[in-house]
Amino acid sequence: MEQQTSRRVLCVGLCCADIINVCDHYPKEDTDQRSADYYWQRGGNASNSSSALALLGANVEFLGTLVRGREFLTDDFAAYGIHADQCPVYEESPGVKGAVAVIVINRQNGSRTIMAAINHVPELKMEHFQNIQLHNYRWIHFEGRQNIDEIEKMIQRVQEYNTSCNTDQRVSTSLEFEKPRLPGLGRLLDQVDYVFVSKDLAVSRGYQNKEEAARGFMHSCRPGGTVICAWGDDGAAAKTGSDDVITSPVYSPKTVVDTLAAGDTFNGATIFALSSGLDVGGAIRFGCMVAGTKCGMVGNKGIK
Ligand code: ADP
Repeated sequence: MEQQTSRRVLCVGLCCADIINVCDHYPKEDTDQRSADYYWQRGGNASNSSSALALLGANVEFLGTLVRGREFLTDDFAAYGIHADQCPVYEESPGVKGAVAVIVINRQNGSRTIMAAINHVPELKMEHFQNIQLHNYRWIHFEGRQNIDEIEKMIQRVQEYNTSCNTDQRVSTSLEFEKPRLPGLGRLLDQVDYVFVSKDLAVSRGYQNKEEAARGFMHSCRPGGTVICAWGDDGAAAKTGSDDVITSPVYSPKTVVDTLAAGDTFNGATIFALSSGLDVGGAIRFGCMVAGTKCGMVGNKGIK
């Protein structure tokens, strides 16, 4: 699968530093125990999805707020070949320390427990998106975060551009609706072409499986829109308009060692496939294959 033109995929959202402790079993509260390994990784949902896209061969850019002094993150974008030069960079101050997530990975089952301190960096605003030259992009993916009004303005700018350009110059849009604590994002679902809904969010709304969730969230999408729902070790489902729900099985690695960013990898790989011209069924299968491969390894460097 190859991308036919050099127009970029843009991932808009969070970049944070992930500090990861790998444990032989999940720790008990108020105990003092050794971890088997530790390392840091560039994290944040949009940042992780851009990594998957880059590893698969897409021309990809990340847009999100950064903090001066965290050059290891910008160096890592560069090492993956991800453009990040339009990101606003804030000076460090008592309220602006950069986002950090402390993560425990349990070696026994690959589970990841995340404690994220993400409110230490300002959210992206419309003014940071204003100068993005939309004709350079084939796809813009928005990570749904608390800057809902600003994301809405960004999406509206893309919509206005799309109505003024030739069909082959249109920019496809997608939105990740992941966090149950941000119900306000629901009002944006009918403004994008593709909606990625997480299992966590779907379960918090009472859905018991991926098929029901895809059908249910479809009612909030635009006519012609598509909802995609990853469901952990049960694969993923998608629904477009009045078509039946399409599903993909999970692709299990021999051993599940690290599920951190499985969902972000799924989103990135699915966007890669869709923006390369694959249909929705093929795209979610490809997303599940790549995400499954990722779960069988530490980090993501070998997903292709
Ligand atoms: P998140 O990381 O956001 O919680 P999910 O757990 O829903 O996302 O996983 C996203 C995708 O990753 C799934 O659709 C599946 O393809 C893959 N995946 C997740 N867990 C496993 C697993 N244990 N084995 C194989 N693939 C998995």
